[in-house]
Amino acid sequence: MAFRRHLRVGSDHASQSGVRWTMHEISFCEGIRTVIEDQAKTQSFDRVTTIRLEIGRFSCVEKSALDFAFDAVMKGSVAEGAALIMIDVPGRAMCYDCLQEVELNDRLAQCPDCGGEKLMPVSGDVMRIKNMEVE
Ligand SMILES: [Zn+2]
Repeated sequence: MAFRRHLRVGSDHASQSGVRWTMHEISFCEGIRTVIEDQAKTQSFDRVTTIRLEIGRFSCVEKSALDFAFDAVMKGSVAEGAALIMIDVPGRAMCYDCLQEVELNDRLAQCPDCGGEKLMPVSGDVMRIKNMEVE
């Protein structure tokens, strides 16, 4: 019997700076595959039809590379052929000029409020599964 439902999976994969982007995307996808296969056993589903990933703006992910890596890594798994939907998550940084936490689309951007350049990223390198549709 086929059925559909949404799963929430809490798993954070922090980005590692200095890693070549190809390895970065492939190792991220391998992490996703491990999570999916664990979930397939414990939640007993046979196929993933759609997977939604949250990708932080500071995570340095190449979306085209991630798309490619996803297809390659999921071959032969329950997520083979699943639709991959990437959701942009803005980065957040603390501005030391106006002492506010602000949203940034780029790690090197200036403060949108005061134009200051002394910004300390506080979040935005998230890469995680938001949810998936399975049957
Ligand atoms: Zn500012």
